[in-house]
Amino acid sequence: MARFQMLMRSPAVGVRRSPAFGVLRMLFPVIVAAVSAASEAQSAARPRIIVAISVDEFSADLFTEYRPLFKAGLHRLQTGVVFPGGYQSHAATETCPGHSTILTGSRPARTGIIANEWYDQSLSRADKKVYCSEDPSLPGSSSTNFTVSAQLLKAQTLGDRMKSANPGSRVVSVAGKDRAAIMMGGHAMDQVWFWSGKSFVTLKGMDQPTPAIVDKVNAAVAVGIMKPDLPVLPEPCRVRSVPVRVADKTVGVPRERKAGDFQGFHTSLAFDRATTDIAIGLIRELRLGAGKAPDVLSIGLSATDYVGHTFGTEGAEMCAQLLGVDENVGRILAALDATHQPYVVVLTADHGGQDLPERNKIHGILDAARVDAALLPANMSKQLAAEFDLPEPVLLGVAPFGDIYLARGIPGNVRSRVLEAAKARYLAHPQVAAVFTPAELRRLPLPSEPADEWSLADRFRASFDPERSGDLIVAPKPHITPIIDVSTYVATHGSPWNYDRKVPILFYRPGVVGFEQSLPVETVDILPTLAALIELPVPSAEIDGRCINLDAATGDSCAFERH
Ligand SMILES: [Zn+2]
Repeated sequence: MARFQMLMRSPAVGVRRSPAFGVLRMLFPVIVAAVSAASEAQSAARPRIIVAISVDEFSADLFTEYRPLFKAGLHRLQTGVVFPGGYQSHAATETCPGHSTILTGSRPARTGIIANEWYDQSLSRADKKVYCSEDPSLPGSSSTNFTVSAQLLKAQTLGDRMKSANPGSRVVSVAGKDRAAIMMGGHAMDQVWFWSGKSFVTLKGMDQPTPAIVDKVNAAVAVGIMKPDLPVLPEPCRVRSVPVRVADKTVGVPRERKAGDFQGFHTSLAFDRATTDIAIGLIRELRLGAGKAPDVLSIGLSATDYVGHTFGTEGAEMCAQLLGVDENVGRILAALDATHQPYVVVLTADHGGQDLPERNKIHGILDAARVDAALLPANMSKQLAAEFDLPEPVLLGVAPFGDIYLARGIPGNVRSRVLEAAKARYLAHPQVAAVFTPAELRRLPLPSEPADEWSLADRFRASFDPERSGDLIVAPKPHITPIIDVSTYVATHGSPWNYDRKVPILFYRPGVVGFEQSLPVETVDILPTLAALIELPVPSAEIDGRCINLDAATGDSCAFERH
């Protein structure tokens, strides 16, 4: 408490009572100083609400490109602390690993969330693929039919730590995707809501009554989906409306969502708007910040990622989407202002992203290409089965790149030879940059250099979990898109390259003067930075991140941590 009081600056009291106008005029600069000191004092107050917003696939590149166009929440956040090029430093730049770093202070090597899906051949069930937010120990669970759970997350989130320090803290998580809500919320959530494909739902077994806002939003969404939705393109997005041909379809020009199109709901402005409505409703209904201990709210705005996958990142669709995010973030800030509680907001992303290769080629990236079908795990498997006269599958993998597993049934006497041959086949392919084995990654220390200077091996080391990672880990060359069938998705992320690793990291406390730093910090730095603001102890040996001092003036917001 003493430390906290030292941080408070004493405002010059009594100035406001000055009776005479002349004196008032004379005192004007003093009043200004008093007001600004008061707002600094308020800002230095310990936050009562911590809000973490993740904008799925909001790359540093998109942030930079759209900065001049933001007028609402993303404009206001830029008056705080701005890291335009932060890092999701690990190699497997997917949604689940990315979200697992944001509020745990830990890289996937520690959170255990190495991908959205991986293989666990020790499972007794037929489906050996595991989904990151399932609980495989539940009878009947599979990677496609599961009960959403934080079971596989090996690290504690900010909410978990706040809850064990003070059970009065409330932990609330709302997101479009279940994996975003779970990986940011953690193991001890009071409220969690995510989109199930039909409505916003919570975890099985959560016995709290449904907040009124959830029923209200679900009812409105159910009506809205059954109506067609013709997007109105904001004026600054019109110049970006240029059609690009991908196989037998066109992207780049927003089109109507048909009545009853649930898949189309994911890429419509209505999706993030609904998630935001629930988050704002919960701030009000639960009176966040007004309880006995600080509360934490995580918000996953998932639509940007669906827009990126479905239409790419450089068309008018993404422009309209990001202006929508700007608006939603503005609404969240307004709701937080209305609580009259001190708060802190951090906004970042779970990973970056890349545009579709067809448009990248038009936009000057001549080596942009779709993955060669020969690299699909099934096809690599076929070649190896023929070479070694083995039954298929020889290899298992979710995607052409990332973790590749040698099938359990391959006899012990040929396993190392098959792996050697598989590695050689991958390395011989012109679209492959590198192949790592667990033995190689295990030898490496966890990286400590700045994230923009990491080697490829460092990036894979930060994604490596000896229990869960593959027998081979395959890295694509830059600009290779691992999607062949473009009927649903045309573009993606997931590579170890910087366009997928780089994300903005923005911290905002009302009234606090911020700064901009172009050198990189990591999303794992968010947890210790926020924890220090509420004097929550986090042993540094348990995490990978470091506290960032958010005070551009004379204070030190990491003082507690350094103590
Ligand atoms: Zn994502």
